[in-house]
Amino acid sequence: MKGERRNFFWLLAITFLFLFAVIFNKAVLSYDTKIAHPFLSDKAVALFNSQNSTNKLNLQKTGWIKQGAEEEDMPIRWMNHFYDPNVGYGLPGYAPANVWANLGIAQMTYVGGDQTWQTAISAYVNGDEKRAFIALGHVLHLIEDMAVPAHTKIDIHPERDPYEEWVKQNVNSNYKTAGYVHINNIDQAFNSLAKYSNKYFFSEDTIKISNSERYKEIIENNKIYLVTNDDLGYSYKLVEKKSIVGNIKYPKFESCISGLQPNVST
Ligand SMILES: [Zn+2]
Repeated sequence: MKGERRNFFWLLAITFLFLFAVIFNKAVLSYDTKIAHPFLSDKAVALFNSQNSTNKLNLQKTGWIKQGAEEEDMPIRWMNHFYDPNVGYGLPGYAPANVWANLGIAQMTYVGGDQTWQTAISAYVNGDEKRAFIALGHVLHLIEDMAVPAHTKIDIHPERDPYEEWVKQNVNSNYKTAGYVHINNIDQAFNSLAKYSNKYFFSEDTIKISNSERYKEIIENNKIYLVTNDDLGYSYKLVEKKSIVGNIKYPKFESCISGLQPNVST
């Protein structure tokens, strides 16, 4: 019986990881603790339930997942929510997010305690579903953060990141239905998503000349936008180019007008 429970929990957890990977591949959503994280958790459960007629998550379990996703941002746990997949680092002095997800002993010294992936699995196997789903929510929060370029380019903003702020305002009206992506383990979830947001997107302070060939300019209604094209054929209008500073090759992007406007040009 324990084996069955373990298998089911793995299936459930991996399904969520597929789901989040796809949500973020398609929409690159983000991360306000009170708005975006609970919203995404809700959508994840809805998609999971739509695919699993026999093992649907009820409102109570959904609530636990949302609770965990929200509580992962408790001070100062969020210092461990960064991960640059190219170098494997997080913020200086803190664990990268993919390591933090498995770092039970360290988590025990933080407010909120041990909410690791392993804790989620063992609690579920032992029949403590509340503990399991709250911990799963914590881990999902970390994976969600991997879709934020500022988190995967180690670009910390003491005041809000403009993209995260945009998502907070627009997540409800811009959500698009997601599907599943196959992964085999949790590390793959962290890495595939972190590499995607790191490669195709930039954060406020990481627009560099070295990336300039990745971003194309388009003109719409007399405005110049910077567009990125991913390997899947999706195009995203990233920012409006508002002014040129000094050399014309080095534009200054004054405002992030949109983190996601898919299919602009493909
Ligand atoms: Zn976070």
